[in-house]
Amino acid sequence: MADSSFNNTNLLACPFSIPDPKASATKVVSRWSDTHVESPPAIIITPNSEEDVVSALKFAKLNKLTVIPAGGRHNPAIPINSKSLYLDLINLKSIQLDKQYSQVQIGGGALTGDVIRYLAQEGYFTTMANSNAVGVVGCLLGGGNSSQNGLIGWMADNIMSFRVVTAAGDIVQVSSSSKGEELALFNALCGAGHGLCVVISATIRIYPLSSLNLSPASKDDPSPSIWSRTLIFPPTAIDSAIDAFLAASPPPEPMNVIFGFSRGPPGTPFAGKPIVLLTSTYYGPASEAEASSVGARLLHPSLVEKAVKADTVQIPFANANNAYEPLNDHGGFKSMSSNRIARLSPRALKDAYGKYLAVTDKYPDAVRSALMFHSFNPSKLAELGATPEGEGRFVEARDRGFCTIGVMWSSEPATRDALAVLYDEAVTILQKDDEEAGLPRRVFPGIMKFLPGRRDLFSGEKLAELDRLQEKWNGDGLFWSPYKA
Ligand SMILES: Cc1cc2nc3c(=O)[nH]c(=O)nc-3n(C[C@H](O)[C@H](O)[C@H](O)COP(=O)(O)OP(=O)(O)OC[C@H]3O[C@@H](n4cnc5c(N)ncnc54)[C@H](O)[C@@H]3O)c2cc1C
Repeated sequence: MADSSFNNTNLLACPFSIPDPKASATKVVSRWSDTHVESPPAIIITPNSEEDVVSALKFAKLNKLTVIPAGGRHNPAIPINSKSLYLDLINLKSIQLDKQYSQVQIGGGALTGDVIRYLAQEGYFTTMANSNAVGVVGCLLGGGNSSQNGLIGWMADNIMSFRVVTAAGDIVQVSSSSKGEELALFNALCGAGHGLCVVISATIRIYPLSSLNLSPASKDDPSPSIWSRTLIFPPTAIDSAIDAFLAASPPPEPMNVIFGFSRGPPGTPFAGKPIVLLTSTYYGPASEAEASSVGARLLHPSLVEKAVKADTVQIPFANANNAYEPLNDHGGFKSMSSNRIARLSPRALKDAYGKYLAVTDKYPDAVRSALMFHSFNPSKLAELGATPEGEGRFVEARDRGFCTIGVMWSSEPATRDALAVLYDEAVTILQKDDEEAGLPRRVFPGIMKFLPGRRDLFSGEKLAELDRLQEKWNGDGLFWSPYKA
């Protein structure tokens, strides 16, 4: 489609569309959250190849547009406006398995669920987000927190190489064996990589599923499966739930424990009512999970009798994220924030719960908001960070075993604003114990608001390096970047 508002569309050999500037922005760009979708982008380009990406960047420069690469469309913080070139990577979703070198190469637009299912079917796994709809590259550029942290580290720890198109239009392959500025770029892409280039593909280390010794899903279904235990408590049992969560932390390496405040989903007996969740997954044999001290605690009748629901299920590996599908709905005002925490006290958790309750009581459209806490064993993360390769990558606070995750979900602007305040106040409470121990705040770059507070992301040394790399690789601001000083 040609359009008189741009003179250079002859550069584009791939599909593109020029939205009507008066159209509804959120109809033109459907994504997980409508927050920051200010107006339709100037143009949407859908490259089929790396050469198409080079042309799209050239086009952006000639027309003074800011490039927004889009994968899973799950990042709520990226602004879209009339100066944006929306680079839709939907056609770059290839998955190429290389069993000989224990690696998989995925396209820049590949989605988490597709990669998990493909690898599971071939008998492999790697570290992946907890949402099937999240873009693999969009996630790993921010570090990539996952349920496999305890076993194999973050996504950023498992990257072997990237093929990228730079702002200058060069196609470059970067890896930990690159030298000089290309090595520096590789390291930044592993954890602080948004807004530096367009990733055409990423090569990621993979592991045989058989190494986990997973139990079969059922008597009739031999597929390897994950042990999963869920307890739902009424607010009156919050103290017991908090004690059980903190006693379970840090869990064994194959285990994750998630604790959180939420409201019952529609169609359940607790619809709209506050509930306290305690769930655990184990990436190993079910018998080992249940024999562990955490497993035994979660199964103990003295805890179970306080819960309104207690279930243990085996989830086929390929379906690991299916239960979270309702969280992937597009639209509405949503945002997410996450902080890395070393210490949490019962008092801090209870005070944060009080805040959650007050705001979600006052604003009925906040009913789908939640405040969650992911606990994992950070030993592997710390071990990887102590290697020369790990030190270079942009993953910090590796010895912290808690991630807070605030999901702020509303339909009214006033509620959106109240939820933002709630999360900030809750984090101040939750970080008190760390602060008293002299630990600096650490926002998790993969799920940050991308607004003020950048200084809480990394050490001063890493931030200075990031400023330098932004200047080197994105000096003219071709890519929208959360890290621009
Ligand atoms: C429901 C939900 C669950 C989540 N779960 C997790 C989780 O388990 N672990 C975790 O760590 N994070 C998680 N996140 C956060 C998520 O990883 C980030 O928001 C991530 O940026 C989303 O990537 P995307 O491709 O889906 O989003 P998009 O909005 O499409 O992309 C976000 C940004 O990523 C960059 N980007 C994406 N692809 C490329 C590319 N090929 N080349 C260059 N830049 C690119 C661009 O800057 C782009 O603007 C979750 C988010 C949601 C909403």
